Amino acid sequence: MNSAVAGIYETEALQQADELRISDKENARKLLDSIDKQKLSADEVILYEYIDAVIQLFDGDVKQAAEVYQRLLLTVEDAKLKIRIQASYLNLLASLGKWEEGLALGEALFSQLAETDDTELQQRAYLGLIAFYDQLEQPETVLILTSRIVDKENVPPEVKCGALAARINAFFKLDDYSYTFTDYNDASQFCLKHNLTIYYAVLEVSKVNWLMNKGEYSEARLFLEKLLEVPEVQNFVPQTTTVLSKYAEVNLLLGDTAEAKTAAQRVLTLDTEVNNSSAVISALDTLHKIASDESNFEQALRYLEQLMALQAQESSAQLSKQLAIQKAWFEIDAKQSQIELLDKQNALLTAKAKLSGESLENSLLALSLVSLLLASLIFWSYRSHKIQAKLKYYARTDMLTQISNRAYFNEQCNDCLNQAQKNQSKMSLILLDLDHFKNINDSYGHQIGDWALTQVAKVISATLDEEAIFGRLGGEEFGILLRGEHSEIALQIAERCRVAIERIEPTVSEYQFKLTVSLGVSNTSQVGYKFENLYAAADLALYQSKHYGRNRVYEYSAAMAE
Ligand code: GH3
Ligand code: MG
Ligand code: MG
Repeated sequence: MNSAVAGIYETEALQQADELRISDKENARKLLDSIDKQKLSADEVILYEYIDAVIQLFDGDVKQAAEVYQRLLLTVEDAKLKIRIQASYLNLLASLGKWEEGLALGEALFSQLAETDDTELQQRAYLGLIAFYDQLEQPETVLILTSRIVDKENVPPEVKCGALAARINAFFKLDDYSYTFTDYNDASQFCLKHNLTIYYAVLEVSKVNWLMNKGEYSEARLFLEKLLEVPEVQNFVPQTTTVLSKYAEVNLLLGDTAEAKTAAQRVLTLDTEVNNSSAVISALDTLHKIASDESNFEQALRYLEQLMALQAQESSAQLSKQLAIQKAWFEIDAKQSQIELLDKQNALLTAKAKLSGESLENSLLALSLVSLLLASLIFWSYRSHKIQAKLKYYARTDMLTQISNRAYFNEQCNDCLNQAQKNQSKMSLILLDLDHFKNINDSYGHQIGDWALTQVAKVISATLDEEAIFGRLGGEEFGILLRGEHSEIALQIAERCRVAIERIEPTVSEYQFKLTVSLGVSNTSQVGYKFENLYAAADLALYQSKHYGRNRVYEYSAAMAE
């Protein structure tokens, strides 16, 4: 056989393996084994290894597959294959609980998707995103993404099936039970027809949840018994434990304690490492109830302790998901302000190239998705006061200096100004911008710059009384809103801040440098109670301070606006 002919065989076998990788992994594996890798092109080798990793993933070797994906992503040239690998990797990051990395990858995927007109590829990538957001517990986002797949024509069955399963799951998570038994059944039969047993089992479990929710326990048990006989379910431990834990639960509800106990115990023996924590928690719960009913209190207590330890772990895992979302939100917000800034610059340079519409559109899409995430974050955090308090703190605080961030500063200022307008009391705003701060970073490094910023926040906080509102507006800029102050007093306070900053000694380092700040002050008696106006006036005054030599305080006067 000459090598050209063999090459054609290799390519075809590879394509077949690709098609079968989810529905028939045994044959996909056989095809891979029959291929002589030497005869593949560079991109084909990457496809080969990708299919190999997907199969490994279904065999449960998550960490190994993650390493392969990372390596492939570094070498892959073909844009489409890259998107496929990224989408699959995203799914995997979710199962490893790497939320921050996943959110960043998700965003990158969005922008690449805009550059391809291959709808099938887009749909596959959406499926990766769906799986990720599903595990991140963001059902609203899952619904947006699934709507881009389920009702479209010519969707590959495994993509459609995955989207159907995710959509139904999302409705369930949102406590929306408007789906009927037939809806569940149709979706699960569609997956079964295409031999997509893993999705079929997911959908059958949703169907069982739906039935249990309606109190139809006997029927739910029948479906679970059938599921337990499906070879794919038996061979895939996460699904076995999910189904068994449900089966234990329903048997307990139906009064068959012995059957419930056996099934729940099997969950614990099958998953000693607690990979499927919700199944293990449910099994422990069942066992705890049984032991209590049997007055076996010692045993009951032991189950309860395990249960509580796991639940504590779960809620801290939930918190880390939410914090990753928060972080992504801040990052996108920061990018958005960069875009806005660019927009402003572009408006000035009308002759120059305009900002790429596409990249703006993608940022907006990502932004709207993340706002949705934020909405569900708020909903979710409703359930836990402690976490709510923590999230509130993160949402309002600048992490470097631990003072209010810009959003919270603005919010407080607006509230205060509204109140002041009603009482007709005066308010003053001071804006501060450190002088030649870039030089400090450039000469001594960013860390020293960061240290200086924390010192500035500290000395100013010490200068102000509790009534004052103080925040970091970004970079090396700060703001202070003074309640009920006349402008002379505001100017005195600004001067005190200036001196306090000038006196900061760079004690942490062997370097000698001087920190100075320029300040601008404005007052409601000059410009009224609108925050934007007060801010613009103080900003003009600050500009004067910079212009006339820095390290000084200027007050706004109407002449400046001319
Ligand atoms: P000017 O007197 O005109 O205000 O000069 P400047 O160098 O302070 O001007 P500019 O506002 O252009 O530069 C601000 C610099 O602040 C840019 C950046 O290097 C630095 N910076 C912004 N945020 C941070 C931060 O979080 N940490 C550190 N270390 N530096 C920051
Ligand atoms: Mg600045
Ligand atoms: Mg500056």
